Amino acid sequence: MAKPFASSEDLGEKRQTLHVLAEGVYALTAEGDPNVGAVEGEDFVVCFEALATPVAAREWLAKLREHTDKPVRYLVLSHYHAVRVLGASAFGADVIVAHEKTRELIAERGEQDWASEYGRMPRLFKEPASIPGLTWPTATFSDRFTIELGGDRGELVLQYCGRGHTEGDLVMWLPKHRIMFAGDLVESQAALYTGDAFHRDWASGTLDRVAAFGAETLVGGRGAVATGKDGVEAAIAQTREFLDVMIREVGGSRTLKEAFERTHAALAPRYGRWPIFEHCLPFDVSRLWDELHGIERPVIWTAERDRDVWAALQS
Ligand SMILES: [Zn+2]
Repeated sequence: MAKPFASSEDLGEKRQTLHVLAEGVYALTAEGDPNVGAVEGEDFVVCFEALATPVAAREWLAKLREHTDKPVRYLVLSHYHAVRVLGASAFGADVIVAHEKTRELIAERGEQDWASEYGRMPRLFKEPASIPGLTWPTATFSDRFTIELGGDRGELVLQYCGRGHTEGDLVMWLPKHRIMFAGDLVESQAALYTGDAFHRDWASGTLDRVAAFGAETLVGGRGAVATGKDGVEAAIAQTREFLDVMIREVGGSRTLKEAFERTHAALAPRYGRWPIFEHCLPFDVSRLWDELHGIERPVIWTAERDRDVWAALQS
């Protein structure tokens, strides 16, 4: 029987859990659905990631409001993907911060990405009509952006670590607590989506820079919160191994179909039961195939191209 397209038939609600990681530092995990976070300043809040729609974002904000009623001054977007950014209007943030490449990518391919992601995983788009349009960052940076949290809360650092999951990912770092929000640059017990990635940069220098922070708590893009130095190192190692296996198997294949079958066989024993593995793999292998054949920047995914690649590899 043909596998249903991407996550189009994955309609079961996930259980959300709010974690208080330190005083005024929150993460919401959701059994493999996109994670989000928030950090309190003295008289404001910084929110990390916006979810797929304003209605989904308002449900998260209602949980956050049980802990703090401070206004959202900053909304940080780790990268341009629709399920991370299209809920932004719910936050009423003064400033929407992202890497400069993220802003460029939204302009270049935000519309197509929205249609693609909605088709792949409709469950995340709670009341899609509530989305007012594309989300535009109002403050961008190229290397580092810091926010003083006030009082004795220390600073919050947004850092670009190189090309990885996309061309413009950032991580959010709290030096005082050694807590990192890594966006989709690190996954913990969840499969990687690499359809817009730069695999070789990500698996080498970019993850090296992420690891060099020496985080003791790490919230990845999906999956569980990684705790303790060992837990953080394991999450980064898992991410790197997924990429290394892909690079080895796709690099050793003569056709795209062979690349998919070899990569699937090599990754499935360890990662096959983790969230979105089957969903991601055709798009992941397709992008890496392009990358290894000299296509520098990811080809734009459209709802039509998604179905073609799926039919060629996964059906
Ligand atoms: Zn992403």
